[in-house]
Amino acid sequence: MKRRELLKGSLMAGVLGLLPKGVAQGAPQNTPYLGRRYRNLIVFVYDGFSWEDYAIAQAYARRRQGRVLALERLLVRYPNGLVNTYSLTSYVTESSAAANAMSCGVKTVNGGLAIHVDGTPLKPFFAAAKEAGKAVGLVTTTTVTHATPAGFAVSNPDRNAEERIAEQYLDFGAEVYLGGGDRFFNPEKRQDKKDLYAAFAQAGYGVVRSLEDLLRTNASKLLGVFSESHLPYEVDRRFQGVKAPSLKEMVQAALPRLASYRPGFVLQVEAGRIDHANHINDPSAVLWDVLAADETLEVLTAFVDQHPDTLLLLVSDHATGVGGLYGAGRSYLESSMGIDLLDGQRASFEQMRRLLGNSPDTPQVKEAYRTLKGVTLADEEAERVVRALRERVYWPEGVRQGVQPENTMAWAMVQRNAAKPDRPNIGYSSGQHTASPVVLALYGQGLRLVNLGLVDNTHVFRLMGEALGIRYQNPTMSEEEALEILKARPKGMRHPEDVWA
Ligand code: ZN
Ligand code: MG
Ligand code: ZN
Repeated sequence: MKRRELLKGSLMAGVLGLLPKGVAQGAPQNTPYLGRRYRNLIVFVYDGFSWEDYAIAQAYARRRQGRVLALERLLVRYPNGLVNTYSLTSYVTESSAAANAMSCGVKTVNGGLAIHVDGTPLKPFFAAAKEAGKAVGLVTTTTVTHATPAGFAVSNPDRNAEERIAEQYLDFGAEVYLGGGDRFFNPEKRQDKKDLYAAFAQAGYGVVRSLEDLLRTNASKLLGVFSESHLPYEVDRRFQGVKAPSLKEMVQAALPRLASYRPGFVLQVEAGRIDHANHINDPSAVLWDVLAADETLEVLTAFVDQHPDTLLLLVSDHATGVGGLYGAGRSYLESSMGIDLLDGQRASFEQMRRLLGNSPDTPQVKEAYRTLKGVTLADEEAERVVRALRERVYWPEGVRQGVQPENTMAWAMVQRNAAKPDRPNIGYSSGQHTASPVVLALYGQGLRLVNLGLVDNTHVFRLMGEALGIRYQNPTMSEEEALEILKARPKGMRHPEDVWA
């Protein structure tokens, strides 16, 4: 469009009163009800999971594994819908504002946990469930103190204050915490040298640090921390021998413990690294974390079948990436090649970076791509990766924000064309979260709903409340009020856009 036309367009908008409006302006309300109560609630969050991820995993399962995703079967037969994900002040949410919307029922500014930007704390749903006598479990593939689980349990102005959040977990007293994040519990790694493992043990938790310990312990309350930071990607756990429990194994440890509490339980399970793999634009890491989530979903639906007083709510908090399988070849007949080529990708870029170290040479980089990604790099592509790892020079230059060396590794092999047919035709729009609506699905007995339709993410709070008969209202804040506070915030304070993940 010409500059003159643009100008004319904006003048017209002014004349007609079509000036920019707030994020939620004009949104219609849709408030579907469940129509029955449950004793137990399981919330399964697919972090950063888009419909494009669904399409690729669905195609992979059918084409390469000869089976149908548990998620596809669930979507075909049970109530589901779409969720609008915007936060209080942005069309694009991050995980804490998304968690807050679902767990507190109100929109917040990106960056804090169960809190408004003026410091007003909110009561997260699992805190209310605990007050009502429910046992609580948090199980994730990220650090256990990460935004998605934490936003369901505790309040903190900074989602990245994970050392502090670990202490808040001790006070909160959930029955089961399973995930990663040794550096937030270990006295040798914490800034303040506090031994949180000892403190949890003192409070009656069985503290476990490996799959073997997890399988062996008979403690009823559990703190399981299985890696320094996040748990490994499923693709690395499965094909590279990186040791850690799978999401399914953690859930299998959590369920019988929680089910033994007579008043019932609430459990959040998070497939937390679908988001991370999408930030990196790493399609095989996305795929295998989605497949690991699907295996876990089978365990959860089987549990619901045996415990009909349980509701399973499956939801994504936002899309990330977004990496879509795109049309290739005449009549798009070569599109499926992208699915087949994923079979040659047997490691994440995270693992590849670990193996290459900070100063690999060009032949080492080419060999790593050939053996771990099934892709032959040109010399200049490999040289870019060498530079990215050694000098932290990111490429392409224009998209530095939120970019890590692994992104350069992903971009090095992204262009598929006739001369480079070994690269999957999966293209990413960014390394950031996006604004698109995401999945919401229910599984449980006696659901009279046929369909949920398009709902706001704050409605997840109301569905959870109806399921357990827990009703309360957190204080709301207007977008205008939040923007005023953000404008007045002193420089140097952490801003939401500094946060990724
Ligand atoms: Zn997220
Ligand atoms: Mg998360
Ligand atoms: Zn993210």
